[in-house]
Amino acid sequence: MTNAINITQVNKVFDNGTIALRDFNLQVAESEFVSLVGPSGCGKSTVLRLIAGLSSLSSGNIQWRNRTLEKDIAFVFQEPALMPWANVKDNIYLPLKLAGISRKKAEATIQEALELVQLESVASSYPRQLSGGMKMRVSIARALVTNPKVLLMDEPFGALDDITRNQLNRDLLELWKQRRWTVVFVTHNIYEAVYLSHRVVVIGANPGRVVAEVAINEPYPCTEEFRSSPSYGRYYRQVADELSRAMGR
Ligand code: ADP
Repeated sequence: MTNAINITQVNKVFDNGTIALRDFNLQVAESEFVSLVGPSGCGKSTVLRLIAGLSSLSSGNIQWRNRTLEKDIAFVFQEPALMPWANVKDNIYLPLKLAGISRKKAEATIQEALELVQLESVASSYPRQLSGGMKMRVSIARALVTNPKVLLMDEPFGALDDITRNQLNRDLLELWKQRRWTVVFVTHNIYEAVYLSHRVVVIGANPGRVVAEVAINEPYPCTEEFRSSPSYGRYYRQVADELSRAMGR
């Protein structure tokens, strides 16, 4: 597999002297789904922001397989951050609007994104009329509308109840099957990380660095059978143990 992203010996020191990352190394293969887990403040969001170019490295290197990948990034945050005065369709249109694409030209793409996240029936609704799960679907549709190759997701389902989270996890894997993105996904939920990922990367704090990697060597995307199997429990345990070690417990 070709690496889409190579993060090599990256250090990130903030202006106030906080060393967020030290000698941070991570390779992400094309179409690989990698989850980052670790204690709060260990630098997970910083890694995503550096990958997205939203923050600058203090030293080290982030290499992309090519410029196309580097430019084709979409970011999804825990807070859907929808425009309250705009309906679902207009919220999804936003990235295309910013790219200078007319509403008329964008119509088919918006429609496709709506169908992908199964929101056709609420296309004209406003964010306040939607449940938390639906808002997150809009946020995902808005990320997908530019047809990105790389998805960076920062605890996107952290604020949702378990049932909704599980449903969105399943949907995300369905979408991955169609789009084959390269995904870097931050979560606190080990269960979710094992379910979604080819590989779970455990990050330790002070300073942030990779302390362990657990490859989920199972058919991908994960099936419902796997989710209730003993081997799922073993992967869970393995990640949980590495995480406890990273947290010094
Ligand atoms: P995580 O996402 O794992 O919770 P973050 O990447 O948000 O961690 O933060 C990593 C460390 O960097 C924390 O100690 C945090 O307080 C610090 N940090 C994050 N952003 C800034 C900033 N803009 N200025 C100074 N320190 C920051």
